Amino acid sequence: MAKKENRRYINLECSVCKNKNYTTEKNFINSTEKIEINKFCNTCKKHTSHKEVK
Ligand SMILES: [Zn+2]
Repeated sequence: MAKKENRRYINLECSVCKNKNYTTEKNFINSTEKIEINKFCNTCKKHTSHKEVK
């Protein structure tokens, strides 16, 4: 079987202003579900929910 690269870089987008504030590495072996993290948004000036986008 051929080796596949299972790590990819994804962007974390603020659910309020839609700004892509963070980039993170995702391991597709361990996590197949979409990431959603509470992080500080510089545009909203507060903690908001950041969702995974491509
Ligand atoms: Zn925001």
